[in-house]
Amino acid sequence: MTSAPNDQVGWHARASALRIEAGLFIEGAACAALDGATLDAINPATGLKIAEMACGGAPDIDRAVASSKQAWEDGRWRHLTPRTRMDVFRRWADLVEAHAEELALLETLSMGKPITDALTIDLPETLVTIRYFGEAIDKISGVVTNSPQDAVHYVAREPLGVVGAISPWNYPLLMAAWKVAPALAAGNCVVLKPSEKAALSCIRLAQLFVEAGGPAGVFNVVTGYGQDAGKALALHSDVAKISFTGSTAIGKQLMIYAGQSNLKRVSLETGGKSPQIFMPDLEDLDSAVDRAIMGIFDNAGQVCNAGSRLLVHADIHDAFVARFVARAGALYTPGDPLDPATSLGPVVSHGHQQAVLAHIAQAHRDGADLALGGNADAARPDGAYVQPTLFTDVKPDMALGREEVFGPVAALIRFEQEEEAIRVANDSIYGLAASVWTSDVKRAHRMVKALEAGVVWVNCFGDGDMTQPFGGYKQSGNTRDKSLECIAGYMQSKSAWFSLA
Ligand code: NAD
Repeated sequence: MTSAPNDQVGWHARASALRIEAGLFIEGAACAALDGATLDAINPATGLKIAEMACGGAPDIDRAVASSKQAWEDGRWRHLTPRTRMDVFRRWADLVEAHAEELALLETLSMGKPITDALTIDLPETLVTIRYFGEAIDKISGVVTNSPQDAVHYVAREPLGVVGAISPWNYPLLMAAWKVAPALAAGNCVVLKPSEKAALSCIRLAQLFVEAGGPAGVFNVVTGYGQDAGKALALHSDVAKISFTGSTAIGKQLMIYAGQSNLKRVSLETGGKSPQIFMPDLEDLDSAVDRAIMGIFDNAGQVCNAGSRLLVHADIHDAFVARFVARAGALYTPGDPLDPATSLGPVVSHGHQQAVLAHIAQAHRDGADLALGGNADAARPDGAYVQPTLFTDVKPDMALGREEVFGPVAALIRFEQEEEAIRVANDSIYGLAASVWTSDVKRAHRMVKALEAGVVWVNCFGDGDMTQPFGGYKQSGNTRDKSLECIAGYMQSKSAWFSLA
């Protein structure tokens, strides 16, 4: 990276000087798609092309899976000693850290994330993911059971084989790392199919793994469209597991592909419509509202666990709305994502911008009250910007109260009773996350027990670390990322019973 200043001008200089790797990455080397197809990487802040990526299809998936299968069978990764694999992980993390500016820039240029967020959230979180699972490698163990006197029985934990990882675009590097790091730590080989909308940082992630001493073929990347490359990976009979983060609709499709092929395991992290419940006895309304604003407008609302349903008690409703409207514009003003002062970038694409605006139009038709925003950003017509938007008087059965928007649009629902809040919160096909704001400890515990969500925050939102299993109830998924619990999902048990008779 250039030694340009850390201001808007400096980041534009770095962006202009950036050399972008845009090929497939198979068997430790960059290559084109077999049929030469490419797809354009577009910067959503400008609408301009930043790279021409290789666009892999089924034949490229076949190559990548064959490479990973060979790596699996000859044991070039899983047969290394655990300490040797830990050393590779350590060097991999160090290289990611050394390339943090480059990787952050790729995120910003690919999907519009503010550079400050990429540097202070995505990169540190990716590093801690690689380090956490690297440290876990020699802690994985089986058990010896309490068997009869004439037998010895142990249960060993073994990796699965070739894991196919399919990842989304909202945190491109981090979501890929949440899959790839535990899969590799468990001893598997991986073929990653990142989102076609933001794949550039994922290619570098695999290159850095090999640079760190990871054997070629153990971590391959095929960029391309979901319905081609993604589907081919999910249907492949040499793939033992698909680990997916993305929409609920595609998650359902992947289970069908597994049934149509080899009954591979399918672990899913999917959509959400997370409720934040604000009780009248919460301790500090001002800071609670600030967290509500961050919970929906961070990453332009493109967060699976975004707190997109704000359930606010009638007693504090008016003060809550007034504070929200007064503060949101100051905290999240649309701007150039390469300006370190920007906190709200565009959404990922012009197509997605139109989808978000369609949700807003539907909310108007359904009779919700617009309290803030509600439009594209007229000052930035080339970018896919959507203003931070708040609708009040949303009814639980309105589309905005039920459907995932995946953009900076909050739905505020007023309630009177705790039981009513719980009922509305749980009345969703999703169950990824929820939060409760109250100073009554008994109420907090009661509500945590009652909420149907994989992650529940109390008097905070989005907090946590790598020990926290992350995943959803109901149609938000069937697995957990992060935490040691997640490594088990990349392994299978083998029971070995020895007769001493
Ligand atoms: P998406 O489902 O459109 O795409 C996700 C991935 O699936 C991409 O790589 C895409 O190319 C691939 N894909 C698409 N069609 C496919 C097919 N037929 N076969 C195989 N692969 C296919 O989702 P997205 O728009 O990239 O991401 C947004 C969604 O991801 C939101 O619903 C969000 O809630 C969810 N998400 C969930 C979590 C979580 O941890 N639960 C985290 C981030 C994002």
